[in-house]
Amino acid sequence: MKTVIANSDQSNTKNELMRRGKALFDAEKSDAIYFTNNQEANTLINDIEEYPHAFVLGCIADRQVKSETAFDIPWLINNRINGFEFSKLIKLSEIEMRVFLHDSKHRFKKDIAKAYFKGIKYIDEEYGGDASKIWGGSPSSAEVVYKFLQIDGIGPKIATMAANILARDFKIPLSDYYSIDISADRHVRRVFERLGFVKQNASNEEIIYKARAIYPEFPGILDNPCFEIGRNWCRSNKIQCTDCYLEKYCPFNKNSKIKK
Ligand code: SF4
Repeated sequence: MKTVIANSDQSNTKNELMRRGKALFDAEKSDAIYFTNNQEANTLINDIEEYPHAFVLGCIADRQVKSETAFDIPWLINNRINGFEFSKLIKLSEIEMRVFLHDSKHRFKKDIAKAYFKGIKYIDEEYGGDASKIWGGSPSSAEVVYKFLQIDGIGPKIATMAANILARDFKIPLSDYYSIDISADRHVRRVFERLGFVKQNASNEEIIYKARAIYPEFPGILDNPCFEIGRNWCRSNKIQCTDCYLEKYCPFNKNSKIKK
């Protein structure tokens, strides 16, 4: 990949990205938020009013595997115990959890079974079995991220991703968005590099702080526009700059030798 020298004035690029991020954020709530290709598993996670713990448990398993694999697990357990009511989950032992995860594609079934067991116990003790208390009552973004961090197995990356999904996709009202960071996934990284926001092979922290510098009020709002650009026009081996709305500002577009 060609190294991109950052142009001195990236304000147009940043403004365009923020404009698109806000438009996507303000869009109507979608009928179904995508978590996995499995429609039944998706339906369970999307039912955040009835089963708020399904989303939280999906987040707990979202490590070192594709998100789809993590968010399939509540559905697998649902099928084994005929429902996903919290009152059923709290009765399960760690051993039972391990057995139920047998059909999961997760690489760390044993660890996830343990994290699920501890997570369910924590939701019971801290929130009386109602995981929606993590985000209910329009808390600050910092409060939501902090509460996710208290759950065993959830680190800063997943905690901030969870807060972003709640605010952006589930349209859960929060009093601010300052603590919702960007997720430095492969699309965000590629687009940030090509736009000259960060150098090639920048660390995740550099990407996160760059997003904070661009839009401190809500750095994570840049997630969706970068994902959209990265998936549609700014792919790793094929670029369609003529279709990308950042074409006229992008330094990479002016210098690229990658096939378009
Ligand atoms: S103009 Fe081209 S290189 Fe720049 S972000 Fe868009 S698709 Fe990527």
